[in-house]
Amino acid sequence: MSKLPSAPIYTSEVYLMACKQFDRAADAINLPESIRDRVKHPRRAVVVSLPIKRDDGSVQVFEGYRVQHNFATGPGKGGIRFHPDVTLGEVAALAMWMSWKTALAGLPYGGAKGGVIVDPSRLSAGELERLSRRYMQELIPFVGPHVDVPAPDLGTNETMMGWMADTWSNHLGRFDPAIITGKPLALGGSQGRREATGAGVAYLVSRYLEDLGVPLGEATVAIQGFGNVGGEAARALARRGARIIAISDHTGGYHNARGIDVDKALACVAANRTLADFDGGDAIDNERLLALDCTVLIPAALERVITPENAPRLRCRILAEAANGPTTFAADRWLEENRPDLEIIPDVLCNAGGVIVSYFEWIQNLENYYWTRDEVLEKLFRQLEQAREAVERQRARFKFSRRLAAQTLGIQRVAEAKQARGLFP
Ligand code: GLU
Repeated sequence: MSKLPSAPIYTSEVYLMACKQFDRAADAINLPESIRDRVKHPRRAVVVSLPIKRDDGSVQVFEGYRVQHNFATGPGKGGIRFHPDVTLGEVAALAMWMSWKTALAGLPYGGAKGGVIVDPSRLSAGELERLSRRYMQELIPFVGPHVDVPAPDLGTNETMMGWMADTWSNHLGRFDPAIITGKPLALGGSQGRREATGAGVAYLVSRYLEDLGVPLGEATVAIQGFGNVGGEAARALARRGARIIAISDHTGGYHNARGIDVDKALACVAANRTLADFDGGDAIDNERLLALDCTVLIPAALERVITPENAPRLRCRILAEAANGPTTFAADRWLEENRPDLEIIPDVLCNAGGVIVSYFEWIQNLENYYWTRDEVLEKLFRQLEQAREAVERQRARFKFSRRLAAQTLGIQRVAEAKQARGLFP
């Protein structure tokens, strides 16, 4: 049991979920009591107040966060989320998952995450630029290429990363692209970064389909969430030969048993930001999409969408967690006990492609030497394969679920680094 009674400032459903996962994993590997609280709770959190001028001349103040969970093996690393439902607890949970994800992937980083409470679709481009710049400005004392390196997440994109890199560079007096990843190519972004998370999801899905003996051409896929991750996963899986039978975003869902025209759906989102006017399938609501008879279900949006209520209705063979934390703790335990045939690719493995290519982008920035897209993707798949094999070995050795195997590996690596460093002073 953890001795620190709680960390009340982070209290929220999603933080509790990340803590429950941690406690279970820590018990499973007998993590010594003396190290548990050090590994579990965030190292520090920064709360910033972000006043910006609206286009109508008024001033509005937004609230933003950066939670730095651990720096044991390198700078903090993790995206920045712009969403109306962001809370400090959610950002803390996401930062904790970044720690296990970077450790599992063998990256020389800790874990961190940022967020701003805002609906970006309600701001003009100018307002978004002022908010992005102000957020970076307020974080200047707490981030840096060797301190904490942000990146995009839900509701943010490469244009915003470019504005943030510029804000940091102006403060420094010289261009310093290694401050942030997921930038436009023109500002030192990496080839392959935009599609990295989705391409990684497609790679892992293909590998697990291979294990099941299902050819890609016979696989059907349903995807919840059609932002950068869901959209790119759809594109990559369709290219590999799978049939995408359903997609959705917050405006609604579409089902087409003959196969969704993914390029058309991507063009729709590029033109209108959402799938609202898409005409390539029949309307389907969220719960029916999750319960579709398909080979692969990919939640690629928010946390906690697979619950004890809908878990018994899942009919997929593979649940590929492209989102962070899409399956609640209780739903996960239910699936483990009642669906031994279901292959879950847990978030910290499934969506690690994004941060792996962020790492490549950061290396390229620090060295000022840039790689081709093929080099990036080849290295990405190799690194993902190593993580996948480590998870499968851990699973076989201890008879763990795949999630427990992935999380225990990440937690163990962070704990080992902390133990090796000792306690200062
Ligand atoms: N936001 C992404 C994630 O959740 C990417 C983080 C990064 O590239 O640093 O993994």
